[in-house]
Amino acid sequence: MSESNSPFVAQPYQGIATFGRRPYQPDPRGADVAIVGVPFDGGTTYRSGTRFGPRAIREQSLLLWGYNNSLRVNPFEALKIVDVGDVDVVPVDIQATHRAVDRKLTECLSAGCRVVTLGGDHSLSLPALRAHARQFGPVAVVHFDAHPDTWDEEFPGQKYSHGTPFRRAIEEGLIDTSAYLQIGIRGPTAGPQDYLDAQSLEARMITLDAMMDLGVEGVLSEIHEQVGRRPMYVTLDIDAVDPAFAPGTGTPEVGGLTSWQMLHLVRGLKGLNMVGCDLVEVSPPFDPSQITSILAANLVFEFLSVWARG
Ligand code: MN
Ligand code: MN
Repeated sequence: MSESNSPFVAQPYQGIATFGRRPYQPDPRGADVAIVGVPFDGGTTYRSGTRFGPRAIREQSLLLWGYNNSLRVNPFEALKIVDVGDVDVVPVDIQATHRAVDRKLTECLSAGCRVVTLGGDHSLSLPALRAHARQFGPVAVVHFDAHPDTWDEEFPGQKYSHGTPFRRAIEEGLIDTSAYLQIGIRGPTAGPQDYLDAQSLEARMITLDAMMDLGVEGVLSEIHEQVGRRPMYVTLDIDAVDPAFAPGTGTPEVGGLTSWQMLHLVRGLKGLNMVGCDLVEVSPPFDPSQITSILAANLVFEFLSVWARG
């Protein structure tokens, strides 16, 4: 496998699929950015399959040539980006998996790397936030999603699932709630309480309807204003995007962001102090034409480009 992304050296369908054809390097030392996969969907509550997400995203990342024409930067040249492979998950034990995610991310952060975590279901944001908060203190969080994910319990007595990570993170003091924004929230719920609960946890909820009024630029101004210079963690649940653009996910909600709006929102994070990010909930079994994982790969490329812009 060549490290080069020149079409004159290596074809995109050639070799072993690492993210963006970056080198596979399980030891993150010496890298600027580590790509980590978490092939786990034990926190999923409706249709599963996100355990196959990291592999599909890597596969669809092979056509990322390197130069970002919107942000005018080549992150593959500006940064040493390595694919450290996948966390050893335990499919039948969510808390053991979370410990393994925390260990792997802590190893990367201690080595001075920034991390992009590929899910996997959204429960992985909890251990990712544990690792980042240990390094940076409580972080501002920009959370793109159709769902608030702030339930207390999704099933009686069950505190850990992909519907609860942000409530747990707030309880554990991992999030600076003076700068916690949820963007893209929509769809029917059992009652009004879901939104009220999230807001009572101090989440600044910008529903999809509110976003359409504010416009992409208005949302970006709010993000920049609230986050300021705080260390910021960005979590992107692909179901924030409309299922017309991202059908391969477990709990789709109609009436979401277009792929352009999602790309533009991520690009608009440039200039903020992003210390880490994840992209979750890509479910390849529901993605027959791979459009969801193609979009996911491109969104990760935008995250990398934001870092490359400094
Ligand atoms: Mn969601
Ligand atoms: Mn989510």
